[in-house]
Amino acid sequence: MINLKTLVLAGVKWGGQLMLTTVVENYPGFPEGIQGPDLMAAMRKQAERFGAEIKEVDFKDGDFHPPAGGPFTVSADGQSFEGKSIIIASGADTKWLGVPGEKEKVGRGISTCAPCDAPFFRDKNIIVVGGGDSAMEEALVLTGYAKTVTVVHRRDMLRASQIMQDKARQNKKIQFMFNTEVTVQIQLHSPPKADQPLAEKE
Ligand SMILES: Cc1cc2nc3c(=O)[nH]c(=O)nc-3n(C[C@H](O)[C@H](O)[C@H](O)COP(=O)(O)OP(=O)(O)OC[C@H]3O[C@@H](n4cnc5c(N)ncnc54)[C@H](O)[C@@H]3O)c2cc1C
Repeated sequence: MINLKTLVLAGVKWGGQLMLTTVVENYPGFPEGIQGPDLMAAMRKQAERFGAEIKEVDFKDGDFHPPAGGPFTVSADGQSFEGKSIIIASGADTKWLGVPGEKEKVGRGISTCAPCDAPFFRDKNIIVVGGGDSAMEEALVLTGYAKTVTVVHRRDMLRASQIMQDKARQNKKIQFMFNTEVTVQIQLHSPPKADQPLAEKE
């Protein structure tokens, strides 16, 4: 125990990206894998056991130019906090495509969260855009419901970790479309068609 006083401003969405996933297979100590939210809850409990105070609030503002020797100041949820050191680990968020229509169609055929929305796409042909871990995970989750899942990626090779690539490639419902970028306008048909092709070959 180092005896430092540690405050974690964990954000409103505490736990980060692993709260959105299912089984994590590459974390040491879990031979059968562990559910992402369970892993994050265990990490939180462990940090709290060692005295970390965790607040589920978002960082809003800060002063990182204190007078010599003075502490840094950050504000969150209407309160001000001081620290001699600040570690910023604010992670990642949804990266939109910038295609006309995408934001208007969220919840009507467009989704950024497969575990949340997969049941709405039962027996459909679904497109997942991307080539990283998120894309592989989302594609794999969707195969539990979809007829087929096509991963559309703008480069000629995936960026995902090898273990995630292997899992996706071994799944017979998943196919890949490389060197392909989504550029078309997303249009809504009635009823919403998750199997509407959204990608154009470059
Ligand atoms: C679907 C999916 C499946 C994955 N599966 C695996 C896997 O099996 N194995 C693996 O090793 N990796 C996996 N990854 C990758 C892994 O989740 C990330 O590498 C990891 O979560 C990164 O951790 P992080 O703490 O850097 O960022 P994040 O997990 O993004 O966490 C950042 C945190 O910062 C908070 N935050 C942001 N802004 C603020 C602010 N202003 N104030 C306060 N808090 C803020 C956010 O709310 C969030 O809680 C997966 C990722 C995804 C999306």
